[in-house]
Amino acid sequence: MIKLDKSTAQTPAILAENGRGEKATRQLEVDFNEGKTNFVFQKSIYGHVSVKTTLKQLQHSKCCFCETHISHVLHGDVEHFRPKAGYQIDEHQPLQKPGYYWLAYDFANLFFCCQICNQVYKKNYFPLADESRRAGSHRDDYREEDSLILHPALDNIDDHLIFEAEIIKPKNGSRQGAETIKRTGLNRELLLKERLEHLKKLRLLEKAITRQGGELADEIRQAFKEWGKPHSLFSAMVRANFPDLI
Ligand SMILES: [Zn+2]
Repeated sequence: MIKLDKSTAQTPAILAENGRGEKATRQLEVDFNEGKTNFVFQKSIYGHVSVKTTLKQLQHSKCCFCETHISHVLHGDVEHFRPKAGYQIDEHQPLQKPGYYWLAYDFANLFFCCQICNQVYKKNYFPLADESRRAGSHRDDYREEDSLILHPALDNIDDHLIFEAEIIKPKNGSRQGAETIKRTGLNRELLLKERLEHLKKLRLLEKAITRQGGELADEIRQAFKEWGKPHSLFSAMVRANFPDLI
């Protein structure tokens, strides 16, 4: 997981002021004020091709949690960081309604995500460190909340997660780090296997630099710098394991 900079992207027109998203949000607020807690959301708005394309470009076609390249094999999901329909604190609690209906069409709440992180792990989980600060409606300020799942664009991910080889661990016992690993499945078996494969290849190349030297070593060094950048696969792991090469 790496911190994403959403400020570089323009909000797609459909979610911008006076767009369909804003009109739909006003309607949801009216519905809530009339006592509704079950809402119908329009995927044609939050999942609009312009939204998905913008997020994909911003995230270099990588999942906001596991840093896997998605687009060459799967369509990927537009994920709501704060769940729109309802939220769950943990697996022992039922789904609470309403969810963050007023953020269903808020670009800041949307990310490009792989189906496994989103549908198998994160689902509707949204635990807070302090439940009393939970925003219950559009009248509350959700920014006062202290989410236990790291926000891909607001939290400093490197302050909460560290790598030991291919394994992600909470940094300095970070509760947010631990919860994020659990709720997005960052150490699931297949992901660990993929990261280890990648790491093994990079370790071989690192050896080649010291043993080979010369032009080839320079080329590999150059490549390492690219592999540690946000557009590259598992870039956080590369940066953590090869700090002298990136
Ligand atoms: Zn993922």
